[in-house]
Amino acid sequence: MMIYADNAATTRMSPAAIKAMTACMEEQYGNPSSLYTLGQNAREVLEQARADIARVINADPKEIYFTSGGSEADNQAICSAAANGKRNGKTHIISTAFEHHAVLHTLKKLEKEGFTVTLLDVHEDGLVRPEELKAAIREDTCLVTVMYANNEIGTIQPVAEIGAICKERGIPFHTDAVQAVGHLPIDVKAQQIDLLSASAHKFHGPKGIGFLYARKGFRLTNLIEGGAQERGKRAGTENVPAVVGMAEALKEISGKMSDNTARLTVLRDRLIAGLKEIPHGALNGDAHRRLPGNVNFCFEGIEGESLLLLLDDRGICASSGSACTSGSLDPSHVLLAIGRVHDVAHGSLRLSLSEENTPEDVEYIIRNVKEVVAYLRSFSPVWRDLMSGKKSFIL
Ligand SMILES: *Cc1c(COP(=O)(O)O)cnc(C)c1O
Repeated sequence: MMIYADNAATTRMSPAAIKAMTACMEEQYGNPSSLYTLGQNAREVLEQARADIARVINADPKEIYFTSGGSEADNQAICSAAANGKRNGKTHIISTAFEHHAVLHTLKKLEKEGFTVTLLDVHEDGLVRPEELKAAIREDTCLVTVMYANNEIGTIQPVAEIGAICKERGIPFHTDAVQAVGHLPIDVKAQQIDLLSASAHKFHGPKGIGFLYARKGFRLTNLIEGGAQERGKRAGTENVPAVVGMAEALKEISGKMSDNTARLTVLRDRLIAGLKEIPHGALNGDAHRRLPGNVNFCFEGIEGESLLLLLDDRGICASSGSACTSGSLDPSHVLLAIGRVHDVAHGSLRLSLSEENTPEDVEYIIRNVKEVVAYLRSFSPVWRDLMSGKKSFIL
């Protein structure tokens, strides 16, 4: 028995994508920069993949740059906008407190280089308020970067409204859409997005590959010096098989998006309803404006880590937040950003479903989370203090 419910951390690769990659490795092994036919064949599949990916987000193929994943795309987008701003004497950046570390740590680095960063508050519902963004804009703002959907609590931000505000003020808008691409409909033109990051392994593609969309006319800075690949913006021989696998996975999942969303929403809402029966627990983030597969709870009086280990014993793969912070004892910056206090944030559980999960999986998860939470509370000193009234319940 193994139930995989950690699709926000990574996904199982699609068999069609594996097949496309294998065929590519066997047949199109030439270097896309070589002039003979074998190389040009590789160039052709690479450009076909670029066109397939561009179509999914309504971009032009020339606006798609392949990267090693979401983190690299975030770094390149933010550093490029910062460099462009600096050239014009603009060094203020607006973001949010609950971004992925690929964004937050890049902003930290820029602060050391003299940039000023305003992090917008995320409200208890896990959403930023466009009017607060409007108020934070300054004469010297050179970038707004707000994630499309949060990787821990799944809340979906008002991207089109943010895009409209940025467009009106002439400020580049970047969105980390790693959790959204393949799962939510995206139209970079309609939503007025200038820069967008994506990663293949979050939509059943291979790890170590992703892309950055940069609107035509936006000046990108290259992070990696070398050859002229990716129009001079990302040196290094292209990872053709990975790109082909990414495009195959994205075409496949995009074709099933409305079916997946309908099915997943039912599973998600059943899971939320089941876990709500656990006393002194609470859902994190808005119940509806969230990714169709995302469920994130806090339970008072338990440690998230212990919960995960015991769920693993019962065959359930889950997470307490972001894979990137597991192993550290700090509570999730996302849960703190939405106002959860340390004690409560420590008892968090993220279950992220994919279209491969079944209603039976969901019932099994509900039953086992209930049992394990009750078991952990039975010998938790914190729980004893809460029950005796020595400490008061928050949830
Ligand atoms: C996974 C993730 C990333 C990092 O992507 P990698 O391809 O693993 O580098 C960035 N942002 C978000 C929101 C993510 O979920």
